[in-house]
Amino acid sequence: MQSAALFQVENGQLIGARQVPSPNYNQRPEHSEIQLIVIHNISLPPSQFGGGYIEQFFQNQLDWSLHPYFQTIQGIQVSAHLLILRTGEVLQFVNFKDRAWHAGRSSYLGKVECNDYSIGIELEGSDDTDFEDIQYQILADVVASLQKAYPKTDQHLAGHSDIAPGRKTDPGPHFQWQYFREALAQKKSKAK
Ligand SMILES: [Zn+2]
Repeated sequence: MQSAALFQVENGQLIGARQVPSPNYNQRPEHSEIQLIVIHNISLPPSQFGGGYIEQFFQNQLDWSLHPYFQTIQGIQVSAHLLILRTGEVLQFVNFKDRAWHAGRSSYLGKVECNDYSIGIELEGSDDTDFEDIQYQILADVVASLQKAYPKTDQHLAGHSDIAPGRKTDPGPHFQWQYFREALAQKKSKAK
């Protein structure tokens, strides 16, 4: 028996995600096509989970006085299309048709400025902590839906560290690519 997909892309929105609009985006360049999915990790403060600070940060609403670390990122305007919390909840900050500000200076297969043509997914996590199993399962569901909606991303998944080597380390050594790829293959074969 086929079970209904958890997520669906409609009009650049991920149905099944909580919509939390961020002002930190702009238009993708004309004629650019979505052809890459970039996986990140983030936690605020670093290696601490919960608290809602990541969504406040992406909405430019973080109170910088709450933690010394926050002062080091004060005024930085960034975003990602999606964030998957430790609980598995998915938040969408930027419509997929728009350009989120997650990759920075980057290149993939010789093509620079990955923000122009990628979708950025943050996992609430850090370089020194295992991710939750539910995050892998939800990420696999989400990526399966995205690859269905944007077929050019089908073979193009990268970590932030792959597209900005020497500058970025996330999703980090605790992200199990093999485990994730197997979960994704399973979701995709079930969806057929
Ligand atoms: Zn990153």
